[in-house]
Amino acid sequence: MCERCVDGPIKQSQFPRRNILKLAAAAAGLAMAPRAFAANAKAPPKPENVLSPDLALDRLMKGNARYVDGVSKRHDFRHEREVLSKGQNPFAAVLSCADSRIAPEYCFDTARGDVFVCRVAGNFASDEIVASLEYALQVLNTPLIMVLGHESCGAVDAAIKSIKDGTTLPGHLPTLVSALTPAVNAVQGQPGDMLTNAIRRNVLLNVEQLKATAPIIKAFVDDKKVRIVGGVYALKSGRVELLS
Ligand SMILES: [Zn+2]
Repeated sequence: MCERCVDGPIKQSQFPRRNILKLAAAAAGLAMAPRAFAANAKAPPKPENVLSPDLALDRLMKGNARYVDGVSKRHDFRHEREVLSKGQNPFAAVLSCADSRIAPEYCFDTARGDVFVCRVAGNFASDEIVASLEYALQVLNTPLIMVLGHESCGAVDAAIKSIKDGTTLPGHLPTLVSALTPAVNAVQGQPGDMLTNAIRRNVLLNVEQLKATAPIIKAFVDDKKVRIVGGVYALKSGRVELLS
């Protein structure tokens, strides 16, 4: 498979599996139902995805470099279906905006089973997103989370205008404004373009929020089992700039 030429697999013995269920239950002080949230104990379907957090980030950014240069790999979607029917072990989770121009699987030149993507307009960590990422860490052993904002984000722009004008957006859109208000308020009065500043601040705030989200994500961060980083996607170049 084409991904195997990238980085190369890491031997399982370098990262011995732990009883994640016990760890999380201890961290949480919770009695979790074993069968409902058990760690994936079987052999990973994509051994090349068993990576340290640093190597996972390196692979993600190398994929973005290929995408930027227009030399994305040809992915063998047909022949990977069978192995992926048996499970998944993505090497990265991405919290991305829902904007149709971003497409994390494309911009990191990844195949199916590689990236666990959670998307919501404005790329913020709602309870549902946090729960999804907890699943990625605890059950799928994903070693990396990236919060991915992007230039010209319409959700952040709408939040700025709503706050500035004192208007209430229709339908359920105010929930997005509420979620993005901390980033908008944090950049009030700062030099430079307010939308750009708010987009970057929103990424950084969500990175910090995720790192501190107990019990599961914080425990994995403290244990250095996962790295959480932020990035911003440039629409014209396709390049992802790392912010943290
Ligand atoms: Zn957006």
